[in-house]
Amino acid sequence: METSHTASLIAVESLSASTRLFRFETGGEHLPFVAGQFYRFTFTDAAGLFERSYSFSQFDPKLPLSQFELVISAVAGGRATDLLFNAELGLTVQLKGPYGRLILPADDKRCLVLVATSVGVAPFLPMLQNLEAGEHQRFDSVHLLFGVRDPTEVLFQETLLRLRSKASWFELTVHCSRSQDSAMDWQYSGYVTNGLTQLALDPKSDHVLVCGNPKMVDDVYAALRLQQFGPRSVIREKYVFAVQEKSLQGPSRSSSDEALLQQKMKAYGVTLATDPKPLKPV
Ligand SMILES: Cc1cc2nc3c(=O)[nH]c(=O)nc-3n(C[C@H](O)[C@H](O)[C@H](O)COP(=O)(O)OP(=O)(O)OC[C@H]3O[C@@H](n4cnc5c(N)ncnc54)[C@H](O)[C@@H]3O)c2cc1C
Repeated sequence: METSHTASLIAVESLSASTRLFRFETGGEHLPFVAGQFYRFTFTDAAGLFERSYSFSQFDPKLPLSQFELVISAVAGGRATDLLFNAELGLTVQLKGPYGRLILPADDKRCLVLVATSVGVAPFLPMLQNLEAGEHQRFDSVHLLFGVRDPTEVLFQETLLRLRSKASWFELTVHCSRSQDSAMDWQYSGYVTNGLTQLALDPKSDHVLVCGNPKMVDDVYAALRLQQFGPRSVIREKYVFAVQEKSLQGPSRSSSDEALLQQKMKAYGVTLATDPKPLKPV
């Protein structure tokens, strides 16, 4: 039996026209997770119970361990959107997890590449916190390729630019699909796949984590396959809609994936939910 946890909404902050940060408090419980993982939430509205998945996205090291944050983009007519974007503080939710293999690799690598579109940057936020706290030493460099429609959608821009200016190991490029190149040397027009071609990656020494829009995830993977990358060096998480999520069978973990995940969980001093089966729905 998987353990179900309860949490209450304690704060909401607007990040952009369509995206908000939701902070929850568990009432003292420290929910296990390795940076990059997600939980499955059960919400209740007038029509009954329903489930959605959200990545834990907290990255402030001062956040109490009993709290977690979600970064959620509104979807027109979306059931969870309607509930959460109109919720009062105190809303109670149930959640199970953690799930997912979108985590930092166990082995040291030359180059770590994080590729996100829009709110797909959420799972990379706690990872960046861990990297900044010292894990960056396991990589020569870390590149975040962030795809958005236009520059107004660059979530956490200030935080990302602050890290870029102070950390020599961190590179940020923002790829805007609907606007021209800007004067900023980190902003380009086009898709994140263009940014990949600039990196001269090597499947033997480099590792890529990709999260967000399913089409972008497929396009990035296809581009990397041409460079001889395979599923072990490109970990993908698609933010599929709930209806797609249900219809997909999550692949069961291979024994080496299982060992890697256990190793990471141990390193972070956390335990896995008792039934870890519903993995990333890629
Ligand atoms: C592993 C995983 C982690 C996720 N983490 C996050 C996260 O951290 N933050 C986050 O914001 N979302 C995340 N998602 C997506 C999230 O689970 C929901 O699918 C999303 O919030 C929409 O839910 P909803 O109930 O508002 O919309 P629904 O009621 O599910 O959808 C309403 C309608 O909109 C369509 N639709 C749904 N989503 C989109 C979309 N993105 N673009 C266009 N049309 C859409 C549906 O097909 C449907 O017709 C994640 C998904 C997965 C699988």
